[in-house]
Amino acid sequence: MKVIVLGAGVIGTASAWYLAKAGHEVTVIERRPGAGLETSFANGGQISVSHAEPWANPSAPLKVAKWLMREDAPLLFRLRPDLDQWLWGFAFLRECLPARTRENIVQIVNLGLYSRAALRELRRETGIVYDHLEAGILHFYTNRREFDAALAPAALMRELGCDREILTTDECVAREPALAGIRHQLAGGTYTPSDESGDAHLFTRRLSELAAARGVSFRYGHLVLGMERAGGAVAGVRVTDSEGRISMLEADAYVVAMGSYSPRLLRTLGIHAPVYPVKGYSVTMAVADPARAHRVSLTDDEYKLVFSRLGNRLRIAGTAELNGYDTQLNETRCRAILRRAEELFPGAGDSATARFWTGLRPATPGNVPLIGRARYPNLYLNTGHGTLGWTHSCGSARALADLVDGRRPALAFRFLGLPYTENFAAAH
Ligand SMILES: Cc1cc2nc3c(=O)[nH]c(=O)nc-3n(C[C@H](O)[C@H](O)[C@H](O)COP(=O)(O)OP(=O)(O)OC[C@H]3O[C@@H](n4cnc5c(N)ncnc54)[C@H](O)[C@@H]3O)c2cc1C
Repeated sequence: MKVIVLGAGVIGTASAWYLAKAGHEVTVIERRPGAGLETSFANGGQISVSHAEPWANPSAPLKVAKWLMREDAPLLFRLRPDLDQWLWGFAFLRECLPARTRENIVQIVNLGLYSRAALRELRRETGIVYDHLEAGILHFYTNRREFDAALAPAALMRELGCDREILTTDECVAREPALAGIRHQLAGGTYTPSDESGDAHLFTRRLSELAAARGVSFRYGHLVLGMERAGGAVAGVRVTDSEGRISMLEADAYVVAMGSYSPRLLRTLGIHAPVYPVKGYSVTMAVADPARAHRVSLTDDEYKLVFSRLGNRLRIAGTAELNGYDTQLNETRCRAILRRAEELFPGAGDSATARFWTGLRPATPGNVPLIGRARYPNLYLNTGHGTLGWTHSCGSARALADLVDGRRPALAFRFLGLPYTENFAAAH
């Protein structure tokens, strides 16, 4: 079958890989000159099954309200006269109900476990390298109340098969000696030995090269303008190349993987996709002193920041801002991240080499991505991966390739266009 994938972020590229592996003739359309140059470019680098609590949880509404006016808030709603933002905000509130939060965690953990296993298989199969470390993820807490509140979700994750252990302060430092300097501030931590880290951009670029070698055609510098319908199905995609030539590309099936821009395209087909851009920041700097730099990937609960070691670089990422499609760097937010990194690990990184970046997470209100068939028999979505797009990339893409082939993927997940069976995975 001929399949067109729209977008070459980590999700579109992984989709192309698994579709090609399943024997399809795949073309990828991407406006940038290469793969992984937007949100998949400089993210936190975590393959984090353990990071499954969505932003939308019972404690979020109060926190978000408190943070509304704080320029350096970890999660900042900048209220705008933007209907999509308000609709998303109301849907977010609904996902904060305890039962919804629990259900979302189940989805996120199931997809995370499946996806991490798919990534490992891909690594074994291709030998792909991307500054990855299999040293686990340690989530540390500097606030006793937050640590206590994390115990129940961690127990739920263990119940669901994610090995998230509870650590005392001393155990945190034993796992990651770079935390010794803040031992007195720590309330405790959780550690997931099977989680990983690495450079998502390097991964995406290398996977695109492997996919190209397998016959996938990547059309970079091509902007998707819209989709055409005929006879109750998608009939083609209108694109323009870097010289401004417009053409219509046709295939048997279409996969929309344009990250935060997916809803704009889908609107042209009358489909509402509840995906809103949530801006995040990262800082990347050279390691100055390897003895002070962490090796285990870390999550700082209080500041909602993640820290990954990418070879001889340190990556610190986080913060979330709902402010439309704006991608300008805000100096205050950049400096706040760098300040926190220096406070926690003084001398570990060389701040003179710091590079700041911002990207738009394609977020659904409950952080559960949209994967599966939408409205038309030949239209598929693989989008809305929010905070965990890299973690979920291989699993989402592999599952999508199954759906395109008419097979039920081997995991319990709320796929679009399919009835959801909680016990599906257990039954197989
Ligand atoms: C600060 C930050 C930290 C993060 N940390 C982590 C982490 O530690 N672990 C993790 O798992 N996830 C993390 N994420 C989330 C993860 O990076 C995203 O979920 C993921 O990159 C989304 O991938 P995507 O392919 O859907 O989107 P993108 O990477 O944005 O790809 C979409 C592609 O579509 C293309 N496109 C859009 N519109 C058009 C058009 N009209 N025509 C042609 N092409 C188009 C874009 O150019 C782009 O290349 C983080 C995100 C941020 C912002």
